[in-house]
Amino acid sequence: MEFLSKRAKGIVPYTAGEQLNDKRYVKLNTNENPYPPSPEAEHVLRSFDAARLRLYPAPNADGLRETLARIEGVSPENIFCGNGSDEVLALCFPAFFDTDGAGACFADVTYSFYEVFARFFGVPFLTVPLKEKFYLDLSAMKEAKCGGYFIANPNAPTGVGIALEDAEAFIESVPDKIVIMDEAYMDFFGQSCAPLTKKYPNLLVVKTFSKSYSLAGMRCGYAVGNQSLISGLFRMKDCFNSYPVDALCQAVCTAAAEDRDYHEKTVELVVKERERLRGELLALGFVVPESKANFLFASHPSRGGGEIYSRLKDEGVLVRHWEKPFLRDFCRITVGTPEQDDILVQKLKKILS
Ligand SMILES: *Cc1c(COP(=O)(O)O)cnc(C)c1O
Repeated sequence: MEFLSKRAKGIVPYTAGEQLNDKRYVKLNTNENPYPPSPEAEHVLRSFDAARLRLYPAPNADGLRETLARIEGVSPENIFCGNGSDEVLALCFPAFFDTDGAGACFADVTYSFYEVFARFFGVPFLTVPLKEKFYLDLSAMKEAKCGGYFIANPNAPTGVGIALEDAEAFIESVPDKIVIMDEAYMDFFGQSCAPLTKKYPNLLVVKTFSKSYSLAGMRCGYAVGNQSLISGLFRMKDCFNSYPVDALCQAVCTAAAEDRDYHEKTVELVVKERERLRGELLALGFVVPESKANFLFASHPSRGGGEIYSRLKDEGVLVRHWEKPFLRDFCRITVGTPEQDDILVQKLKKILS
């Protein structure tokens, strides 16, 4: 213990959702996709030549970047790939914020990793409270004294989305500050800011293969932005880990990205089921903000979030709960298959009766 640095001793790490992957649980706690990855991706995985693993992978994931550039309608120089979008978001802190600078700004209720990264990299930060109905207070954020923003759109863990025109008006209104749009759940909303990166040099959009592509276990995320922002991320990557995206991951993610039909089909299934499940929860008396993501944020007037979480766990259904002010009333429930969600609803009826 005495070998730990002050920073290592002092920091409070991010707590990931429980990964209890045994058969006993219906797992609706970490926003994984209930459907398997693309069959094309599976085929690449199964036929991957192990001899290739003798060599280092393409350091900049060039093949994958070309595919992603085509999909996003930009050039490969506008794409950066990392080991999960968490790594891409992490590298944004040293790339775009100084430890003695104006700092980063984000909502008080948002992806809790932003605060952990800020502390880890020694970047000052400030938070802006959400408005009524869990909307982001973009006008307060605009006035905040900071060097840039991290905005999860749709937001986590509320699922609330910012319409594209509101996002654009915000980006345009802060031309001297960088806006990092974390679009981990955007495919379930369909209003990506990625095309705006050609118009706004202060915009960086971050996406992931973990949610809509069903590849959380593969660990790949990417950023879309103008070349000077992207080269800033490459500078940081090459100060930390030159080969963050392994060879198998590059091959599998390229195949998954190219299979547009499958991606569209699974996203559609999840969105349709999200609306059905929300209806079921509303009928049970839950308060559920309209979600644009693959999860629902639900509170019940007669039961605390902690009670619902632990009774569901006893019943074999895992959801996410945080014992924090504001959040403690809620559970975050990942949209599963209709069969999984039926089990959830049946257990909730039992708990509430
Ligand atoms: C899941 C998630 C991510 C990233 O996940 P990776 O698996 O690291 O790509 C990023 N931001 C938000 C808001 C998320 O919920």
